[in-house]
Amino acid sequence: MAPSKVLAGARVVLPTGTATDGRVIVDGTRIAGTAPRDAEIIDVRGHWLVPGFVDMHNHGGGGASFHGTAEEVLTAVRTHRLHGTTTLVASTVTADLDFLSRQAGLLSELAEQGDIAGVHFEGPFISPCRKGAHSEALLRDPDPAEVRKLIDAARGRAKMVTLATELPGGIESVRLLAEHGVIAAIGHTDATYEQTAAAIDAGATVATHLFNAMPQLGHRAPGPVAALLEDERITVELIDDGTHLHPASLRLAFRHAGAGRVAFITDAMDAAGFGDGRYVLGPLEVEVSEGVARLVEGGSIAGSTLTLDRAFQRAVTVDGLPVEDVVAAISANPARLLGLYDRVGSLEPGKDADLVLLDAGFRLKGVMRRGAWVVDPQLG
Ligand SMILES: [Zn+2]
Repeated sequence: MAPSKVLAGARVVLPTGTATDGRVIVDGTRIAGTAPRDAEIIDVRGHWLVPGFVDMHNHGGGGASFHGTAEEVLTAVRTHRLHGTTTLVASTVTADLDFLSRQAGLLSELAEQGDIAGVHFEGPFISPCRKGAHSEALLRDPDPAEVRKLIDAARGRAKMVTLATELPGGIESVRLLAEHGVIAAIGHTDATYEQTAAAIDAGATVATHLFNAMPQLGHRAPGPVAALLEDERITVELIDDGTHLHPASLRLAFRHAGAGRVAFITDAMDAAGFGDGRYVLGPLEVEVSEGVARLVEGGSIAGSTLTLDRAFQRAVTVDGLPVEDVVAAISANPARLLGLYDRVGSLEPGKDADLVLLDAGFRLKGVMRRGAWVVDPQLG
């Protein structure tokens, strides 16, 4: 077994605050409380140590998608690991139910092996009025029996379903998901304020990419944005890529919800960590130009090419958010929501040694997952 390591001298972001000249002890795959005498000391002064990132909404990367083969799924997972995401939920997009059930089976096996943390179904139970980059022909109302069939196909590994709760069967489906311990996420929705509030009362706990693919805030029709922001039971997903949200909208949501109720996601598609060009998102063609993904037909934004290291740096340096709040939104909050906070989401003894090393400018300089370097530390 590899000797214990002590990463020493960094600013370490802990749940209780930031320790200057802090240290993290790694023993095997876990974080330890005390270091043995023969531990290897790694001097990381001038750097930040933060928990590995947790992405609960991600469709792919590295030229591959979560609709692909097991090998393609792993390519996407590895790509995001190189950017600090040590825990990732694989998201599907709208497709026919038989395909989604089969893909859920494949993804559940990868979840059992520990490669991914579970499955998120985005569509097909979403609103044709707010379909974004989902295939309209394949959308359907959220029939609880079909929702049940999908989550069963994931064999206990379904973590979240995004649905338009105002559609027929929406509220019953939210109840069903809540009963089965699967997150009901409100998104791609045309709901009113009142309809959104009813879905929250039925058990919905997440807003899928708040502001995107839903009616905007109006002074007489506050819509889902106000209902989702004001309810303490909701965590709001935000895509901080500079394209999906203006920094002021992001700050507004962040300040209103508070750092405890925000989850940064990528909503990444195949081009993340790969490059511009032609791709497909489910059955639809996408053109990625200067890092922005749009449907070839209609021009809707079609996911992002974001990685969470860029979201982290942007949140601190462009949006001006405190580092501790960014850590909450990018690690701790999603880990808690997914029921994984006993293992990941903070740098505490007993947890998996999943961590990200950042320099003073918040550039990624190292990634460790379960005690092994995924990106070797680049110091100096
Ligand atoms: Zn998505």
